[in-house]
Amino acid sequence: MNTTILSANLQVNSDHVIAATIAPNAFEGDFLVVPSYCEGFKQVGSPRYDFRQVNVGTITNENFVGFSELTYTGKLRTDDRKELYCPKCGAKLHSNGVSYVRLKHIPYGSTYQTLEVEVKRYRCSSKLCEYSCTEKIPFQAGGHRITAAAYHEIYRLLEMKGSKTSLKALSFETGVDAKIIRAIDKQRLYDKYTENGEGKKLLPPRRQARILGVDEFLLHSLDRSDKFATFIMDMETGEVLWVAHSKTKEAVKVEMQELEFSLYD
Ligand SMILES: [Zn+2]
Repeated sequence: MNTTILSANLQVNSDHVIAATIAPNAFEGDFLVVPSYCEGFKQVGSPRYDFRQVNVGTITNENFVGFSELTYTGKLRTDDRKELYCPKCGAKLHSNGVSYVRLKHIPYGSTYQTLEVEVKRYRCSSKLCEYSCTEKIPFQAGGHRITAAAYHEIYRLLEMKGSKTSLKALSFETGVDAKIIRAIDKQRLYDKYTENGEGKKLLPPRRQARILGVDEFLLHSLDRSDKFATFIMDMETGEVLWVAHSKTKEAVKVEMQELEFSLYD
């Protein structure tokens, strides 16, 4: 990063220690042109640079680390000449201003990256119809405020690091909220261990287990009667072979007999 360019536009605001706009002429020689992996995004102007100190430790044992972030503003490459029609009543859609969606993107080394995408808003031209919508972002990961590229990168990191990292550590590494990382990890486990990634039916184990482990855990979202679940796993692969809503080992034994140990013969 060219510091002379940054210092020319330095600002201090309430949220961030430093915020700066990188001058447009900085593209001349000071930048690498890299693929965005966000097809349909048209960057407008130069990225904004922010720097802030974040406590990566605890309240009692503070550990402040500096994080920088680049925010890229842009629009979607959409064809404005195309007429759009209301899916509810069939009348024409009128444009109704714009809004901005911030999506976390793959970090660039230790620098977080965010895309600020201008999306068009539309409303139905019929006075009787209340329908309104916003432009869909083709490179957004379904249901999350991150890009599809960031989703795949986090998925890959979770595959690689598995239990050797925490959601919090990955959140600091990528700048993506820990709740989103948890959701990606859940889907990853569904893909790996359940039929069609739906999270409903466990896939048969890939190999015969040699050492089995049994443990129980607390379920948070269920009422008291079903508060515990017991699971059996392959201690060598970590694969979950069987789960039941029950705490007592006796109940588990009965259910296993009902299964006729089909998985463990
Ligand atoms: Zn309508």
